Amino acid sequence: MVLIPALTVVLDIDHLPAYLGYPQTIRPAHSLVFLACALAATAITIKALEIDFAVAAGFMGHLAIDTGLFAPYSPISFQYVDLGPYRPAFALGAVICALSAGVVLRRRQGTGGTGDGSHNG
Ligand SMILES: [Zn+2]
Repeated sequence: MVLIPALTVVLDIDHLPAYLGYPQTIRPAHSLVFLACALAATAITIKALEIDFAVAAGFMGHLAIDTGLFAPYSPISFQYVDLGPYRPAFALGAVICALSAGVVLRRRQGTGGTGDGSHNG
């Protein structure tokens, strides 16, 4: 599933202003509030559980490889937390969500095809 690494890379676009020398007070891609909003938006608009899992996997994969201090509840709270101790948990969450996305997609493809119960590949 190419979507998950793509989401992880796209989420890093929030680093671009800092690289260009612009001050950056919040990083939405590191906020659980952002994740909740993204999941709500995809659930309402796309209505595909595998996409929700892919979004969650991309978010957690991003946090699993990122370093530094981030405000996990911004813009509600700007209390900064070191992500370091949580990186293994985010990596595990990313793997679980990615696998879940694959299972959901596979089941959808398996039951949505010809209707004869055969698998399509
Ligand atoms: Zn980042």
